[in-house]
Amino acid sequence: MGAGDSLGRLTEARALRETVRAVLERASADAAGIAALINDGLRRSRATPELRHDHGRWWTEITSDTDRCAAHLAAITLSALAPVIATLGPARLGVCAGQNCRGTFVDLSRNGSKQFCAHRASGAAYRRRLSSR
Ligand SMILES: [Zn+2]
Repeated sequence: MGAGDSLGRLTEARALRETVRAVLERASADAAGIAALINDGLRRSRATPELRHDHGRWWTEITSDTDRCAAHLAAITLSALAPVIATLGPARLGVCAGQNCRGTFVDLSRNGSKQFCAHRASGAAYRRRLSSR
C-alpha cells in the first residue's frame, strides 16, 4: 500500500463529506438533486444490504461490496441518511443559521421551524442561565 492509496482513500472520504454537506445544505431547496447525489453515492460505494443475526436479534446492515474503507463509510452514511429523508421529508434537514457555525441538524420540531443546531441552542440556554443569576 503506497502513498497514492492513502491519498485516494482520503480523496474518497473528503468526497463523501462534501456529498453529505451538499445534501444538508440543499435538501429543502433541491430534493430531486440531493436524491440523485445520495443514489449516485450509494451506487458508487456498491452499497449492499445484508440480513444479519446476532445475540438473538435480526437486522439489515448495509455495507459496501468492495474492500475500500471509504466505500464502506459512504454506504453506511448514505444508507442511514436516505431513510431519514424518506421518513421525515427533505425539508427537515438543514444547516445552522448561526454566524460562523457549520452545524447541521434534523428538524424534529412540531412545526418544522428549526434554524439553529443543538450547539447553538444549548449555548443560548447557557447564556440565559448565566444572565438570570
Ligand atoms: Zn449552530
